[in-house]
Amino acid sequence: MTKYVFVTGGVVSGLGKGITASSVALLLKRRGYKVFMQKFDPYFNVDPGTMNPIQHGEVFVTYDGCETDLDLGHYERFIDDELNYSSNITSGKIFKSVIDKERHGDYLGVTVQMIPHITNEIKNKVYEAGHSSGADIVITEIGGTVGDIESESFIEALRQIQYEKGSTETFFIHCTLIPFIYGSNELKTKPTQNSVKDLRNMGIRPDALVCRVPFSTSDHIKEKLSLFCSVPKENVIDSVDVNNIYEVPINYYNQKIDEIILKQFQLPVKKIDLSNWKKLIDTVNHLDKEIEIALVGKYVELHDAYISVAESLKHAGYKYNTKININWVDSEELESDKTNLKEVFKNSKGILVPGGFGSRGIDGKIKAINYARENNIPFLGICLGMQLAVIEFARNVCGIVDANSTEFEVNTKEPIIDLMSDQKSVVNMGGTLRLGNYECTIMKNTLAYADYKNNKILERHRHRYEFNNKYRKILEEKGMVFSGINENANLVEIIELPNLKHFIACQFHPEFKSRPLRPAPLFDSFVKASISNK
Ligand code: GLN
Repeated sequence: MTKYVFVTGGVVSGLGKGITASSVALLLKRRGYKVFMQKFDPYFNVDPGTMNPIQHGEVFVTYDGCETDLDLGHYERFIDDELNYSSNITSGKIFKSVIDKERHGDYLGVTVQMIPHITNEIKNKVYEAGHSSGADIVITEIGGTVGDIESESFIEALRQIQYEKGSTETFFIHCTLIPFIYGSNELKTKPTQNSVKDLRNMGIRPDALVCRVPFSTSDHIKEKLSLFCSVPKENVIDSVDVNNIYEVPINYYNQKIDEIILKQFQLPVKKIDLSNWKKLIDTVNHLDKEIEIALVGKYVELHDAYISVAESLKHAGYKYNTKININWVDSEELESDKTNLKEVFKNSKGILVPGGFGSRGIDGKIKAINYARENNIPFLGICLGMQLAVIEFARNVCGIVDANSTEFEVNTKEPIIDLMSDQKSVVNMGGTLRLGNYECTIMKNTLAYADYKNNKILERHRHRYEFNNKYRKILEEKGMVFSGINENANLVEIIELPNLKHFIACQFHPEFKSRPLRPAPLFDSFVKASISNK
């Protein structure tokens, strides 16, 4: 029978609830249990796909094509499993489903209400995640902060689940903050007490508190929180600030959070092996080299907009004992004639152009690609980065000066990147991109083949435009190699320039499959090439 762990947050947002949920899941998985993870987001977008990354950060994509919150990326990186459509539920999805059912006549004769219709829908999503995944334990994180109007229906649904299932089948973790007040030089528990009070007012009794705190708390603080919040003292867990998020599971393990949960669930506390994770942390804390890699994008002021890309670079760095310092380059700033590219990239050993949408900042990205190509600097282009690498090559090497994407110039004379044919009839913008896993066949004797060591791969996608095969011959004649193709639809998936040290770009997003202990092949080789670029 599936058991359910819920992770809520209080006091302030940004406490690292996602990392807490991921860490707990990692520990339970390594105790030998099958886990599944899920996030509820209280906003009304059906998914974050239509939001500006500056507001919401990266859109993470699951293998089955769900556009999700970036926390899903943390989940996958920690538990090393692939999640799916059941993993990210928004208020938008819940309300849409209830309203669709109402129109369909599923509730004929009744008044459709928050309770029970919305709450039942939420509960069903929780239970469904358990049934469809066959997990022993489902870990569900609730976005936002307890007390927000938006998340009330979720909290109410959780209260019902706690009541229905009882404490041997549910475990509630509430994440809060213990601030340190300078002057009186004290850690303060009141915000946590108040936040637990809010939760209890809504009918939920937390089983454990995970308290973000600048340094380990004393017994006295734990006793106080235990008494005021009715939580056993050993269930008050410190979440101290760490250098690296991958240390968090070990912190929690040292405080036995996994054992506490399993005991409450009356499940055996099986043996655990964390040796490779501990070794990873040791590596991360003792990296003996460092290099700079430039990431050229238009959302660089919010690093979370590229979080999977940044993590993937780090993962590859760990493999080579190298700290990766990202040179965050705003593509729009490269557009000014006054910007000296040599100066911008003077310490960068590699240049990466990630995915993106719309025409803003495009010329700056093309300039960066041109700089990488002409100066033989290792280059990795992802999705839009591949499309722009093709445009740059067509314009500057093949003499097709008007080469462009119809995304930026609808009536361009040279549509070298064009809308995919099955996208031409698409009217709705949400959820209609080419999403999720598609197969790619890799040509032998290419960089891509050396990276993947396989001629069939599956990678995740998120795009509407594609390379226009009409231009393939002319680009090939000038030295571009089309090393990865989706054979079903005859779509270009990977391009490379073999006469350069390392120049490769892909239509898919390899960053979604990178893991701290297993960097994605294209990041691995790009970082390796950047390290050897003296
Ligand atoms: N805007 C481009 C497209 O839709 C690239 C998308 C991306 O980089 N994810 O095809």
